[in-house]
Amino acid sequence: MNEVFLKRIEQMLGAQQTQQYVQTLSQPVYRGLRVNTLKIGVDQLRRQLDLPLTPSPFAPEGLIAASSCPPLGNTIEHRQGLFYLQEPSASSAVTVLDPQPGEWVLDLCAAPGGKSTQIAARLNHEGYLISNEIDPDRARILLSNCERLGVGEATLTCASPDQVCQAVCGWMDKVLVDAPCSGEGMFKKEDQALQDWSVEHVHACARRQRKILDCAYHALKQEGILVYSTCTYSREENEEVIASFLADHPDMELLDCAVDFGRPGVELAGFDSSRVRRIWPMDGGEGHFIARLRRLSANPAAAKKTLPERPVPAEFSAFLEDQLTEIPPLYKRMCGDQAYIQRHPFFELKKIRVLRQGIQVGELMKNRLEPHQHFYTAALLDGVRRHQISLDSKQLQCFLKGEALNLSAERGYVCLAFQSYPVGFGKSDGQQIKNKYPKGLRLR
Ligand code: SAM
Repeated sequence: MNEVFLKRIEQMLGAQQTQQYVQTLSQPVYRGLRVNTLKIGVDQLRRQLDLPLTPSPFAPEGLIAASSCPPLGNTIEHRQGLFYLQEPSASSAVTVLDPQPGEWVLDLCAAPGGKSTQIAARLNHEGYLISNEIDPDRARILLSNCERLGVGEATLTCASPDQVCQAVCGWMDKVLVDAPCSGEGMFKKEDQALQDWSVEHVHACARRQRKILDCAYHALKQEGILVYSTCTYSREENEEVIASFLADHPDMELLDCAVDFGRPGVELAGFDSSRVRRIWPMDGGEGHFIARLRRLSANPAAAKKTLPERPVPAEFSAFLEDQLTEIPPLYKRMCGDQAYIQRHPFFELKKIRVLRQGIQVGELMKNRLEPHQHFYTAALLDGVRRHQISLDSKQLQCFLKGEALNLSAERGYVCLAFQSYPVGFGKSDGQQIKNKYPKGLRLR
């Protein structure tokens, strides 16, 4: 272990607790999952998985996997988006953020999407999520995770915090900054985090975090809540970043995190460390820091330009009528030849790269609509899909490998489900179902 790093830990924890911390480094990584309550209840998923999983102290929808628990990433429930694999303490920041249905929430540093998908589930299709990731490759992973978990009432963007926060200035009830950090809580999991570690890197991260927070400030409404989190231990990237942000923004108030997990922050002169929360590996997770703040000042909102409702091609409406037993109140939109739906009116985000707004229904081709996987994963539509076929285990394996299914069904597009949860879709000619499971998701 890096001596400089350990010395710094000792300055925060003292000798005895540093020893305890060092002992945790030779223990297995904490593993956990978060139930996607957009699709399934916690008890129901526990019954279905029937594995050694216990409730997490960090979120009511979190579960901790015992060391005897087999890997969960290859289970059908994972493919069905019924849960998200997440280190247990990583779910704590959204518990502190406490998104409520009806609120507008911005997740500014969102990939791969653990916290965004948790926020979306808490909003439960009411309110709106803007989920942003600056790195294009990571933004694609964010998109695929949101799609797998059936998130629909959201806009996913790939832009800098400055660009996004200018565009949504004054819109947000809540903003989460889960900042890029030196990753000291990841040393067990990622060798790279330890190799990249240096005091200079810690300082560089702290400067970047301060800049991101300055951007986030602009997105907040008056009384809006900002939650800042990292998975690192350094004082510079945690208490000091928040203290410096508060010094520059006297209209921001540091609130208590109001949770009973973890422990107070480390001491810093002039800073109320009792209000922030730290989770160390001795507290049941790999490590997290959380601070909750409120904006007291008014913030005139940037104009929200709702896109005018335009008539959509008949094929689009006909497709929805054919596929759904009842159509929930939805806005429809064509963007080029791509069809989208969402509950909130579509709106413009000027000069921002939008990866997706709403549920991608499919692509208009000649005189028909070719559906998209997102239409069949979207949680909002669970329960109103008309042509849903239940596969048995053998048929499921064939489907996941990309094979056609010899099943007679009504002609047209059909949703294919296992144990009542959609997996994907196919196209039936009456006798056989052509496989439409995306190639990138298929079992090899
Ligand atoms: N919230 C995510 C989750 O729960 O899955 C994890 C976010 S990770 C800790 C931080 C993210 O910030 C990374 O995806 C990284 O690409 C992004 N990032 C890196 N530099 C950034 C910058 N200058 N501004 C905003 N985000 C940045």
